Amino acid sequence: MGTDLWVDRERAIWKVLPLRPQPQPFESITSYIIRLAEANGLQSINELGTLAGGMIFSDLKNPDYPAAAYPGLAQITGYPEERWFDMTFFHLLQHFGYAMNRYSLHRFFQGSLASSLRYCPLCLAAHAPAYYSLLWRFLVLPGCIEHGVRFLDQCGHCGSPLPLLKCLPQLTKCLTCQGDLRTCESPRLDDDDVERTDRRTNDLKMLLTPRPRPLEKEEAKLIGKRYQLLRQQRGLWIPEVAHLLGRDTSVVRDIDYVRRFRQASLHDYIRYADILGYSQCEIFDEPSLQDLVAPFSEEQLLDQVETAIHQLKVRGKPILPGSVGDLVGMTGSRLKQYPRVKKLLNRYEAQRKQEIVQFDIKQEEELFKQVEHILKQLEACEEPIVLQHVCDLVGLSYSWIVKKYPRIRALFHEWQKSRSGGGLSPRLNEEAKVQQVQAAINVLVSHGEAVTLRRIRQIVRLTQKQLRSSPRVKALLAHYTKKWQREAS
Ligand SMILES: [Zn+2]
Ligand SMILES: [Zn+2]
Repeated sequence: MGTDLWVDRERAIWKVLPLRPQPQPFESITSYIIRLAEANGLQSINELGTLAGGMIFSDLKNPDYPAAAYPGLAQITGYPEERWFDMTFFHLLQHFGYAMNRYSLHRFFQGSLASSLRYCPLCLAAHAPAYYSLLWRFLVLPGCIEHGVRFLDQCGHCGSPLPLLKCLPQLTKCLTCQGDLRTCESPRLDDDDVERTDRRTNDLKMLLTPRPRPLEKEEAKLIGKRYQLLRQQRGLWIPEVAHLLGRDTSVVRDIDYVRRFRQASLHDYIRYADILGYSQCEIFDEPSLQDLVAPFSEEQLLDQVETAIHQLKVRGKPILPGSVGDLVGMTGSRLKQYPRVKKLLNRYEAQRKQEIVQFDIKQEEELFKQVEHILKQLEACEEPIVLQHVCDLVGLSYSWIVKKYPRIRALFHEWQKSRSGGGLSPRLNEEAKVQQVQAAINVLVSHGEAVTLRRIRQIVRLTQKQLRSSPRVKALLAHYTKKWQREAS
């Protein structure tokens, strides 16, 4: 065992490359691999891979993603594995509490990364040694703030796209035309883009740098809390943010509360911060995050709930525990576990119920007067009164009125009773019956309602027997009865 270890170490010493250039700030691992091979006069980067214990770099599907380990590369360079992580998106992922799980990484980076080389020719020309920056891969960054130019995403000489990791270790040459990438011309950044480029550069540099304090298990939750708080301060609802992002509300909820199966991408995080008017540097502001570490005191929560209530009032929305919870980032029932918050919410709920009752009473009162007036008018004109018709005149359906307004229902009953002479249905002559039934059918048809016996009876207030005993009414209804039978069969 001891001997094996010694042999391993012996071999390791022999494997160390003679030239080991220093990695540059924010240099990508792909860039460093090319430089390492180039510096040591290797013909291809796969040759370097063989030396590193059989890594096949040209097969690398996701360049610059953090891999599980870099023992081979650590061995041939003598640089510890941690330094290799610095050349990947490792720290950025850590900021968002992401594990190095490939599936979720794809989702997280969706739409954020360039799949071929984007570069600043002036950086390649000015920096010695020349290297590729991790920053260049982020599509959200329009160009280079140092030189004030837009990034190029192809060879400036022949227009060919440039692979991130080329087999031949030539960092500054186009493999297609052999042109020198350092002499390519790139357009200047627009004035509008300069500020954005500056902010994005600072944000990405911060995200690609290790966190200043030891990592927290619940890192993403803390960031989520920060987003929540800033969203509340802006007076924005989750659905409003989702609408502005053009994404599902579940994505915003994922950022705010951190779901088990995460859905939000880096792009979502950045755009959400844009909507709030904050840079990533401001979101990840260390003292602000520290303030969030301690659980909410009831006092703080009460403040937040009061703010949420104010926001709901401004929008003219009902103050319900659920909608308050949506703004505060808790479920309504969870909110009610805090006694003082519960008391406040209950007060609003009681107030709301009271308002509804009062509103209904007021509405019924007005409606009652209207209906009474119409009935009197119709009676004065000695017109045949069809209750459905009265309902039409007030703009509500008969069934709705009867269900919703007991006083009006009583008025109808009273009225029907007085007209039908002591509760019995009126004895009508054949002609009157036909006329009433025809009127009822007209009302139903004009409403697009189904002509059924039940509805006709409700309107004309005749018994089934009275309806059936009249041959002319039967004939009138036969047309519809046949239709029912057809539809039923
Ligand atoms: Zn540059
Ligand atoms: Zn070219």
